[in-house]
Amino acid sequence: MTTAELMTGTDLAAEIVAQAAARAKALREKTGVQPCLATVLVGDDPASATYVRMKQNRSKKAGIASRSVVLPADTTTDELVTEIHKLSSDPAVHGILLQHPVPAQIDERAAFEAIDPAKDVDGVTMRSFAAMAFGDPGFRSATPGGIMRLLEAYDVPIAGAHAVVIGRSPILGKPVGMLLLASNATVTYTHSRTVGLPEIVRTADIVVAAVGKPDFVRGDWLKPGAVVVDAGYNEGNIGDVHFEEAAQVARLITPVPGGVGPMTIALLLEQAVDAAEAQAG
Ligand code: NAP
Repeated sequence: MTTAELMTGTDLAAEIVAQAAARAKALREKTGVQPCLATVLVGDDPASATYVRMKQNRSKKAGIASRSVVLPADTTTDELVTEIHKLSSDPAVHGILLQHPVPAQIDERAAFEAIDPAKDVDGVTMRSFAAMAFGDPGFRSATPGGIMRLLEAYDVPIAGAHAVVIGRSPILGKPVGMLLLASNATVTYTHSRTVGLPEIVRTADIVVAAVGKPDFVRGDWLKPGAVVVDAGYNEGNIGDVHFEEAAQVARLITPVPGGVGPMTIALLLEQAVDAAEAQAG
């Protein structure tokens, strides 16, 4: 039996996309500029190809044009950086999304850093991270930005809350902790070398799971009444939190799918329109 309230992202994401679409239309009518999001896919991983297709389809529905760059699996770092530099300097492209992970031979950080920060609508560059950390304007990392919007929409008290983030990747764990900190949470980062993880999680008012391991966080790790955000997306639509167990203990919990996932795409599209508006002057 589920006791927790579901924190769903589907409707909120649809609202954000509808607003982005309206702004894209207004920009087109006023300036003739159509927002354009370039996607870069390296290799033939089917899951990555599906994510890119999904983002392109949603872009189209929102009146955002897509530019698709597909590169072979044996692309070198230099070749990828060259392609991204071309998009960075192309005035018809307003946002750039490099689908990750990229194949192992590529220096992913170098590829991310080739994105002009003004076009970094997925919030993956060091410049965007620094802006997030310092509370400056800039693009938010899309998934963390989506998580914050979800917490705000559900009126989750963040100031003074203890937030435990499980995972410290540069695109998810680290930035979501920074955004929670900027909203005055007391933040604990945990990772694969953390000792006594369940005990630490049990002290959390807000848990963000960003681990990449199915059903990793168990119900008995949670403080009763905790707010649980499951950013995990593992094969078979399984999150990083054991949903059935966690829902018995938590007050609010995101479903997988239908929680964080749609919010990530919504933030990406919203930021693509932000970028186009800024570049159209
Ligand atoms: P990642 O780069 O693989 O990072 C995973 C993090 O989990 C690392 O920091 C790692 O610690 C930590 N970790 C691994 N094993 C652990 C353990 N036993 N105990 C505690 N921490 C552990 O993954 P990611 O890109 O951040 O993605 C995380 C999850 O979010 C995945 O399921 C991914 O599919 C999902 N995701 C969803 C969206 C969305 O839109 N919904 C977007 C992006 C990612 P170390 O740093 O010590 O190795």
